[in-house]
Amino acid sequence: MLEWDPEHFTSFEHLCEVTLATIREKTEADRIYLWLSRPQRELFAFDPEHGLVAMVPDHAGRLGLPISFIEQALAKGQLLIELMSDAGGWQESVEAPPTQLRACFPLKRQQGLEGGVYLETRRRLDRLTPRQKQGIQLLMHYLAAELESRMLSNLVTQERSERLTTQDSLARSQALQQSFLDLLQSLHQVGVHLSGCRGESELLHDAVMLARSSLQFDRVAIFLIDAEFTTMQGSWGTNEAGEITDERHFVSPIPAHPVVQEALRRKDYVLVLEDAPLYYEQQEVGRGWNAMVSLWDGDTPIGWIAADNLLQRRPIKTYHGEIFKQFAAMLSQLLIRQRNHAALEQFNRDLEERVAARTRLLAETNEALAQANQALEQANQQLALLSMEDPLTRIANRRQWDLTLAREWEVARRQQGLLAVLMIDVDEFKAYNDHFGHSKGDLCLRQVAQLLQECERRRTNLVARYGGEEFVILLCNPQPGEAEFLCQRIHHQLARLAIPHPASRVKTHLTVSIGFSYRAPDQEMQWEQLIEQADQGLYLAKSAGRACSRGFDPHALPTEHISTA
Ligand code: GH3
Ligand code: MG
Ligand code: MG
Repeated sequence: MLEWDPEHFTSFEHLCEVTLATIREKTEADRIYLWLSRPQRELFAFDPEHGLVAMVPDHAGRLGLPISFIEQALAKGQLLIELMSDAGGWQESVEAPPTQLRACFPLKRQQGLEGGVYLETRRRLDRLTPRQKQGIQLLMHYLAAELESRMLSNLVTQERSERLTTQDSLARSQALQQSFLDLLQSLHQVGVHLSGCRGESELLHDAVMLARSSLQFDRVAIFLIDAEFTTMQGSWGTNEAGEITDERHFVSPIPAHPVVQEALRRKDYVLVLEDAPLYYEQQEVGRGWNAMVSLWDGDTPIGWIAADNLLQRRPIKTYHGEIFKQFAAMLSQLLIRQRNHAALEQFNRDLEERVAARTRLLAETNEALAQANQALEQANQQLALLSMEDPLTRIANRRQWDLTLAREWEVARRQQGLLAVLMIDVDEFKAYNDHFGHSKGDLCLRQVAQLLQECERRRTNLVARYGGEEFVILLCNPQPGEAEFLCQRIHHQLARLAIPHPASRVKTHLTVSIGFSYRAPDQEMQWEQLIEQADQGLYLAKSAGRACSRGFDPHALPTEHISTA
């Protein structure tokens, strides 16, 4: 028998073994079990040979334990004893039926504890004296108390360990959170730096550099995809020594590998291969995790970033995936911005070039146009001059005369001004031609024209060849007697010039007859009539013997008719 000395029980097993051994001895039990239904279902068998053996509680039925009998005792909280002669497992023999009993001693119910000791014996427990029963009950109380204190201490231990676990996981999660926040902060800094990059190549170079130095990726490489989605091109990468390498020369078809294809199909998806072979320039350089995330322009993949942990072998954390995804989204945006910016700059350059070319062309055209215009203007001026000038005498021709007279007629009519016209005809000019020849006659006409112009120099007035050997002079707003005075001067100057005219019946030198008319235009009268009137004056002069002047209407003249004949 085991020593009964509660002070020296070192463990629960020890306590149970001693208690159950004592009960077994006192009851002479053949089989004895400790049954617990709370705080958890447990079943222990005890025999001196094997000690306390934990059984699977669900196997109680298979062990032949009368579960309903045990549960009945536990429910009542009383010692139950019954004969087993009727019980299924222990049929009484016909010849010598053994008196076999089974008993269940409930453990005194404590908080959270429920159970009992079940045993089978040939000893008539039902006939035990109260004192004997009490001894067993005492053992049961003791067992219950110990079990409860074990249970409580288990609870405390469990709680403490749970608390420790909670604290530990809280600390771990706080640390994780802090690492994530630190990485987010770094990602922000990376974004600030990258947004200042000039040009796509600088952007991709710095993206690789900063992802390595600030975002806990050992090796990073960025690949771009062409618009047709057939070719990939390298940009910047990392070699096995952790140095940034220029991989822009690397061009190849997009790998048909399903992993790559899937990563390129799924936006915001980080593909991670754990314990994968890691490569540099198609050579395997180690093993580790390998992650890939695509770059996107809207719904179109434009490239991807690959990263691994070849150098420092840090395990991948969940938040690395999140950072990687955010990094890719940020880089996508910056890449698109760079491309738009570059396209805009190119567009502006093209536009400037086109504008400059157009400006040059326009300047050249303008210059050519200006030259052409100048030539045209000169030609026009010449043409105008020619069309207004008499080619023989180089004074105004009949056309200029008509235009001027019509214009001045209108002006005088509006301003109620006065006009005067002199009509001058060379006397006996046919005879001059006949005598000297036609070309001498031309020369003579030129001399007469020059003389007339010298006699009348006012800019507003006009001297013209009217036709043949006839000339006209227009006086705008003439002073009273101005026409007569002019007639006089002409005769006088011609006499001074004294062009010999031996064939003339009038004088020995060339003479002219002049008819003139003054008129203030009115509504009823046309300008042509002024000429007709002057012509009538001329007729009068010719009739009066030539080499003299006559006005159209002597009564209307402001001064007396003057004759120089
Ligand atoms: P009258 O005193 O009546 O005016 O006599 P006239 O001979 O001057 O008059 P007529 O009308 O008979 O002759 C005008 C001449 O003027 C005829 C023509 O040969 C000449 N004549 C007209 N135009 C020109 C010209 O351009 N050059 C030359 N040389 N002669 C001209
Ligand atoms: Mg004439
Ligand atoms: Mg004449």
